[in-house]
Amino acid sequence: MTDFVDILEDEDPFETAGLRLTVDLTALTDNWKDMARRSGKARTAAVVKADAYGTGIEDAGQALYMAGARDFFVATVAEGVTLRSYAPEARIFVLSGIWPGTERRFFENDLVPVISSEEQLAFWMAVLAEYGDYPCALHVDTGFNRLGLSMDEAIALADDVSRPASFAPVLVMSHLACGDDHSSAMNKQQLESFRQVSAAYEGIDSSLSASAGIFLGSDYHFDLTRPGIAIYGGEAVNGMKNPMRPVVTAEARIIQVRTVKAGESVSYGRALRLTRDSRLAIVSAGYADGYMRSQSSGGVPLRQTIPQGGQGFVAGRKVPVAGRITMDLTIFDVTDLPDNAVRAGDYVELFGKNILVDDVARSAGTIGYEMLTGIGLRHERRYLLEEE
Ligand SMILES: *Cc1c(COP(=O)(O)O)cnc(C)c1O
Repeated sequence: MTDFVDILEDEDPFETAGLRLTVDLTALTDNWKDMARRSGKARTAAVVKADAYGTGIEDAGQALYMAGARDFFVATVAEGVTLRSYAPEARIFVLSGIWPGTERRFFENDLVPVISSEEQLAFWMAVLAEYGDYPCALHVDTGFNRLGLSMDEAIALADDVSRPASFAPVLVMSHLACGDDHSSAMNKQQLESFRQVSAAYEGIDSSLSASAGIFLGSDYHFDLTRPGIAIYGGEAVNGMKNPMRPVVTAEARIIQVRTVKAGESVSYGRALRLTRDSRLAIVSAGYADGYMRSQSSGGVPLRQTIPQGGQGFVAGRKVPVAGRITMDLTIFDVTDLPDNAVRAGDYVELFGKNILVDDVARSAGTIGYEMLTGIGLRHERRYLLEEE
């Protein structure tokens, strides 16, 4: 019995996982350094919201911190609290701002709220009146119409002599709506608007650009840039060759390889009818894991507009998804591979170095961001880090 338990304990869950992710932390930090170079004189933050775009905020946050990042953006207080232990000296901005009842967590973890509405501002002033000095950031809307004080509110606030002396913004920021489209006139318009805001807050750092905006050039960099997707290897700018290194590899295990005769059908709704004798690899990842059903080879509305369904990569080749993707399982057509090239237990790359996450996303009708952040909770994860 004891021997048996020992064997069980030796097992590496990564080696047998149905779905597994490999996160290359060296590629991640290289990408961050690349964005820092492209940001010129501006300081470069790291955006680590949504569990660092699905890569794991603890490991990714720590690696970025070790690589020199000292400004971080998270979406929620909880993310900020988690990050704090891995980035002890960093400034951590919380994009969703502050709510009554969360002050303590901000103070105890030294988190900086990003104030982005009149209500939040009023609450923040009340907090300052009670507790004294504490930094904050101000988010100003320059046309996105998501979060942010209006330009008028922000500029009036800058000149407001009656505001409490303890009100101490350390950053004014805004966000581009069309940074990924370098031909859009919206970028210039937002730039001009943000310049007015930045001028009203002279002496306080300003920040406009996420990944895409960094590629728009130095006019857009101001004092601090906020790259997210690019450091995770994703595509930031439409139609531009992606210069970043892939960071995440997602692989699913083949549970079974089966032979099927021409004329038979595959998966729900018989969405695929085989026109030749085929070999199918059934892998252990499905839409419940974030491998989206919209990538099915047929039987989903998207195939009427984007003909090509998803593809995997195994034994040195791309193989198409066959039929509908199901909750826990996806079927790949491996007929074109040599006999015995794949077996149960082998892994099919869902995205990574051979199939870029943005290409997978396109066949699902979405963007790399959604693919990365959607990869579910059922995977095992492994981190790679080259020793310097
Ligand atoms: C998510 C986000 C970023 C990072 O955007 P990427 O496109 O991933 O680089 C920067 N700033 C704000 C306000 C964000 O919400």
